[in-house]
Amino acid sequence: MNIILFGPPGAGKGTQAIKIVKNFGLHKVSTGDLLREEIKNNTDLGNKIKSIMDKGLLISDNIINDLITKVLSDKKFYNRLIFDGYPRNLEQAINLDLHIKKYKQKISCVLSLDVDKESIIKRILGRQTCTNCGLIFNEYFCPASNKNHSCDPKFLNKRSDDNEKTILNRFETYLNKTLPILDFYKEQNLLYHINGMAEIDQIFDKIRSIIASLET
Ligand SMILES: [Zn+2]
Repeated sequence: MNIILFGPPGAGKGTQAIKIVKNFGLHKVSTGDLLREEIKNNTDLGNKIKSIMDKGLLISDNIINDLITKVLSDKKFYNRLIFDGYPRNLEQAINLDLHIKKYKQKISCVLSLDVDKESIIKRILGRQTCTNCGLIFNEYFCPASNKNHSCDPKFLNKRSDDNEKTILNRFETYLNKTLPILDFYKEQNLLYHINGMAEIDQIFDKIRSIIASLET
């Protein structure tokens, strides 16, 4: 079983990826990890990647594709991958398709955690951390009160609203890049939409039932 997980920044994709890995024994593939691993192992490719990154340049699709091919050809991970944050554009999706077939594997399902823009902003900007005890609250979804928090409210630390524009930009970029990829998988009947605004456990229950429906 190979899974692709999509979701905009702030949708809780990382949390769900960890749960999927744990419950289904999958191996998580993120391009960031692959790049860091290559650099750490001091390979020729790793040195090339490092010099590109040191110059502040973007890593090309070709290099990313080479790294993904390496994972797909590794028997250790045969048919038990979860792709997190990849593919990032339609070209990468087409390339993945090609190599998945080449190594006699398939994508079992594509999970898209859907959240609306307003909620993402509230989730990220409403986040409050208590600098005294470390508890995390959200002024919109889970506000601190004397029922759930015993410290003085002065300890609650909130990110500045200046971040709103950055968050919106990241969200728009995600939508623009991701919608064509989702269409690509929809045509192959692999796409499942999941309400990313639900509770963490509810989201995971939904994911579990989708996976169960695939295996029968
Ligand atoms: Zn506290």
